[in-house]
Amino acid sequence: EEIQSPAAKGHPKGLYVLFATEMWERFNYYGMRAVLILFMTKALMFDKVFASNLYGSYTSLVYLTPLIGGYIADRYWGNKRSIIVGGLVMALGEFVLFFCASNYNAGGLSTLLFFSGLGLMIAGNGFFKPNISSLVGQLYPKGDRRTDAAYTIFYMGINVGGAIGPIVCGFLGDTGNVFDFKWAFLAGGIAMLLGVIVQLIFQTKYVVTPEGKPLGLVPKDAPKAMSNPVLIILGLAAFATLMIGMLYVEAKVFSFITYLLLASVLFIAFIIFSDKTLNKIEKERVIVIFIVAFFVIFFWSAFEQAGASLTFFAEEQTQRDLGFVNIPASVFASLNSIFVVSFAPIFAWLWIKLGKKEPSSPTKMAIGLFLLALGYLWIAFGVKDVSASVKVSMMWLVGMYALHTCGELCLSPIGLSLVNKLAPLKFASLLMAVWFLANAVANKFVGILSALYPPGIAEVKKAADAGINLQPILTKQVTPTAEELTKLKDLKIPFEYQ
Ligand code: GLN
Repeated sequence: EEIQSPAAKGHPKGLYVLFATEMWERFNYYGMRAVLILFMTKALMFDKVFASNLYGSYTSLVYLTPLIGGYIADRYWGNKRSIIVGGLVMALGEFVLFFCASNYNAGGLSTLLFFSGLGLMIAGNGFFKPNISSLVGQLYPKGDRRTDAAYTIFYMGINVGGAIGPIVCGFLGDTGNVFDFKWAFLAGGIAMLLGVIVQLIFQTKYVVTPEGKPLGLVPKDAPKAMSNPVLIILGLAAFATLMIGMLYVEAKVFSFITYLLLASVLFIAFIIFSDKTLNKIEKERVIVIFIVAFFVIFFWSAFEQAGASLTFFAEEQTQRDLGFVNIPASVFASLNSIFVVSFAPIFAWLWIKLGKKEPSSPTKMAIGLFLLALGYLWIAFGVKDVSASVKVSMMWLVGMYALHTCGELCLSPIGLSLVNKLAPLKFASLLMAVWFLANAVANKFVGILSALYPPGIAEVKKAADAGINLQPILTKQVTPTAEELTKLKDLKIPFEYQ
């Protein structure tokens, strides 16, 4: 039976408080992410292989820590505190990155600052993201039919932030002058602080249960010590240090996080399948969730190339000059969110219009994967004759992002509600974690795949500085000498060294 609380026509004000907070947070996350790979390759002078792998490891951890942040909120901190704490830690991460980018050629120190900034972003996101999403549902009575609409509105908030962040950070930071990257991180940090301020001002008053009682408070049975500010700060510092340490280890081997992800999957599967109280049907449903999560990995691995290989493509191979303005490569990262905001109403209308003919959830997921593939097929046409120094029209990237977004709108909402419907109550949060974990694995793949991006103009320049003419070597008109090969290897230029 469908319930609607009598007081409310439309949506509770709390939804708009969460909308605004999430919008500023996504501005912060996607804004910094848009310039991240360019900052690594152009300012920090990391080679593409290293930068791609580090990028994938970073975004992978960003999706892994919500498992911990969700757990700590449920037991010790409650949603509200976790959101504020997480937001502040992320803002701090941006400011550390700002500092790093202001002194980016400070040798070992700048590496420490860079990894610290990323580690703080990872730790903060872990506390922020799962808790803000779960508050949205708690604004409504169980079974209220406005909940789906609430999540759709919230998803708009995500994407308004995801659209504006890369535009602002891209124009400020990705200017061609490597000293400007710092402004992108500063803008991200300020945006995050605005999100925290929105929470501090409006949270207690508006983010409440349908009966008007406070939401997301510290659980009653939580030990008092867990609310001691000194312990909270020490705990956070320890957690952030752990993340920074993990990035250091990962940067040495680039397989550590892969094992961590594998271990997490096995651990969760073990907890669920060793539970004696689940019956056969419940276990089969859990298996369905795992299968769906498995396919979703392939979707996000290709989709989330946006911040990595596709940013290289925008930077090096795309004609971005409109005559009156030169669009920075990082700004292309906003296209997905712009298309989400524009297309979502069309898809909502389409599903209603189709009525009984609306495709089933598995069919929609398959359509989503198909559209993703179609997007890459589209861009493959555009680049089939491209070489390092050739630039193609931006319609190839724009069209691809449009197709990818249509895929996202088919697949992404379905996945979450499928998990909601199929998960046995006892493991609802843990199986939501499986969904995040699929994202984490996918983002790790993003880095591995992006590392395969072929040498481009950046490498041609780098080689020229070392006295090598790379262009004819890349087009196989000239075979490199043994000495040149060693030099290219030293420069870490990805190349087929046979
Ligand atoms: N763009 C959405 C967000 O940031 C979804 C991304 C994802 O699930 N990988 O929340």
